[in-house]
Amino acid sequence: MPPLSMKRSAIDLEEMASGLNKRKMIQHAVFKELVKLVDPGVKAWTPTKGKQNIIMFVGLQGSGKTTTCSKLAYFYQRKGWKTCLICADTYRAGAFDQLKQNATKARIPFYGSYTEMDPVIIASEGVEKFKNENFEIIIVDTSGRHKQEDSLFEEMLQVANAIQPDNIVYVMDASIGQACEAQAKAFKDKVDVASVIVTKLDGHAKGGGALSAVAATKSPIIFIGTGEHIDDFEPFKTQPFISKLLGMGDIEGLIDKVNELKLDDNEALIEKLKHGQFTLRDMYEQFQNIMKMGPFSQILGMIPGFGTDFMSKGNEQESMARLKKLMTIMDSMNDQELDSTDGAKVFSKQPGRIQRVARGSGVSTRDVQELLTQYTKFAQMVKKMGGIKGLFKGGDMSKNVNPSQLAKLNQQMAKMMDPRVLHHMGGMAGLQSMMRQFQQGAAGNMKGMMGFNNM
Ligand code: GDP
Ligand code: MG
Repeated sequence: MPPLSMKRSAIDLEEMASGLNKRKMIQHAVFKELVKLVDPGVKAWTPTKGKQNIIMFVGLQGSGKTTTCSKLAYFYQRKGWKTCLICADTYRAGAFDQLKQNATKARIPFYGSYTEMDPVIIASEGVEKFKNENFEIIIVDTSGRHKQEDSLFEEMLQVANAIQPDNIVYVMDASIGQACEAQAKAFKDKVDVASVIVTKLDGHAKGGGALSAVAATKSPIIFIGTGEHIDDFEPFKTQPFISKLLGMGDIEGLIDKVNELKLDDNEALIEKLKHGQFTLRDMYEQFQNIMKMGPFSQILGMIPGFGTDFMSKGNEQESMARLKKLMTIMDSMNDQELDSTDGAKVFSKQPGRIQRVARGSGVSTRDVQELLTQYTKFAQMVKKMGGIKGLFKGGDMSKNVNPSQLAKLNQQMAKMMDPRVLHHMGGMAGLQSMMRQFQQGAAGNMKGMMGFNNM
């Protein structure tokens, strides 16, 4: 396919590129610093196979200890470890029932008592019992504590002394915020905390407090909790955690991907979009770019606010296959058809063209017609966007689009979209945030934006 005729446009590509680089450099520096902060410089504790590994949980009341004990037990059990749970929380009514319920559901052996009130006794008895039965992972849940409750802190120390845990896990709620450092330190001062688990990262909290917890306990984060369900639990990974902390999604990856697409192509496209023009060839090249960018869900996963569950694997393959098919059809079109600013009209004027293209690409005439319908929708949208004054001035949309124009644009896009997809994206709000991200992160990468619109 011959390249689009290039016309040097008013867009300052140099400035765009250097802006992108500057942002990238700053982001990179901040990123690196934060990565350092979550690395306490010690290796995370891991259990030893064939040995009795005793893990004791500590943390504030409500931080998610009992839930997380069950999650961790389930995690190891699924990996083939002989795993059990002990409830040494005699403080909160119903604590044993809660653990028992979780354990029963996950078929994890457990130990506890409704009558014994001394947590040291329960913990010791439980550990003794399970050690004798050769359990490999023995997890001990304790009662929640507040920093001020000295007696409870003392009790925690006694439990630790009695059972001699191999690993003490400090559980912290991601939303705890400022108080985090003092709290974590209070625990570390009393018992030998060696690991941190951050819970409730599924909520609004980004978990910035975890950085203080790591500093205060000199312990690495080993897992994160991302929901109330037993498998809402993931081994801790530094990079995604920091990304979320910065509200970036995997912006770095996204920018890299976008940079891989040649900005020169963008330039020509933006120039045409400015005038509300959009040809079949433009559509072809957009599709090409989407394919180049790699697996669809991977791209979406990089956009802040999108989960990887946005599209199931099956759907993605379908979408890709569909794109490929559309491109095959366009491969059978000639230059006149591809480069007309009203490609659909060229075909409707001479319907014989539809038959020729269908034959050439081995599809039905209906397939060709559908492609033309799709193209018409796109072209209409571009026309409307081109009509929004100043939208593409200078190429950097984030500078030029005012809020009301943006709202208008978003509405246009929403109208063109499959409502189910829109729903997946979190409705209008989700779409808007995606648009903003694209404008900020990808400097007017219209191709990407419009490509997604087609899915
Ligand atoms: P404990 O007092 O430290 O034992 O805390 P619990 O395990 O009883 O948890 C307190 C509340 O937080 C419960 O309602 C849990 O369902 C909830 N919870 C725990 N972990 C998470 C998590 O990762 N995400 C969410 N959304 N809720 C959690
Ligand atoms: Mg509890």
